[in-house]
Amino acid sequence: MQRRHIAIAPILIAILVMAFKYFTAEKFVNPETGRVSHLAMSAGQEMALGLQSYQEVLSTEQVVSQGPEVDMINRVVKRLVAATGEEGQKMEWEVSVVKSDQVNAFCLPGGKIVVYTGILPVAQGEAGLATVLGHEMAHATSHHGAERMFQSDITSALVNGVQGAIAMSDMDNGKRVAVMAALGAGAKYGVQLPFGRKDESEADQIGLMYMSRAGYDPHEAISFWQRMTEMAGAGQPPQFMSDHPSHETRVAQLQQLLPRAMEEYQRSAQAGK
Ligand SMILES: [Zn+2]
Repeated sequence: MQRRHIAIAPILIAILVMAFKYFTAEKFVNPETGRVSHLAMSAGQEMALGLQSYQEVLSTEQVVSQGPEVDMINRVVKRLVAATGEEGQKMEWEVSVVKSDQVNAFCLPGGKIVVYTGILPVAQGEAGLATVLGHEMAHATSHHGAERMFQSDITSALVNGVQGAIAMSDMDNGKRVAVMAALGAGAKYGVQLPFGRKDESEADQIGLMYMSRAGYDPHEAISFWQRMTEMAGAGQPPQFMSDHPSHETRVAQLQQLLPRAMEEYQRSAQAGK
């Protein structure tokens, strides 16, 4: 009798631990897609981590604070922010421009955006930029970073800090790099953690709606991803493309969404009159 109890106990404990992790997780229903996901942390904790990553990235980069490129980027972000709906209202949006040849842009949890000037020639204007930033901002409003942390071992690494504030300065270097990678700011360390296919498709879908609502023609999204794919094909894959779905899948999905996106676009054009 005694031995049987001993054999069952570890399994029960494992199940309890898993159940605890699952039921104490933050549940998030995406207002744009209706998809339910489990998050490793609260929006406030996520925002604090995003801000720390943002400061860490900017501390070692050459930030450009004025000029026509900065004005253009600010204008696009402002229009997109207005299109992000209820989830976007909870973010503390801010954008910094970094002088660099890197073809890169990302948005951290909580709404801190970094745009590398190297992406501007590929963006070829506001609509192209709105495509990539809409996509990146959708990762943030969809809490994909916290979802990825929930799905990965980083959750257990953070579990001690979950009750209180999570401070990156308290983490050892390995953990800090892992957290930054999960949040989408890992390029600095050469660590790119891909978002799942589902998250990428969701960011594409929501990003397309954001840009259309912001008054940018959604057809431009397809041309933009085309240019990015051509770059990748020419043997210089933008760092930022390494975690994105195949071109055919992406274009097929975007084309399917175009009628809905065009409705948003026309509505925004009418509102602007
Ligand atoms: Zn993405």
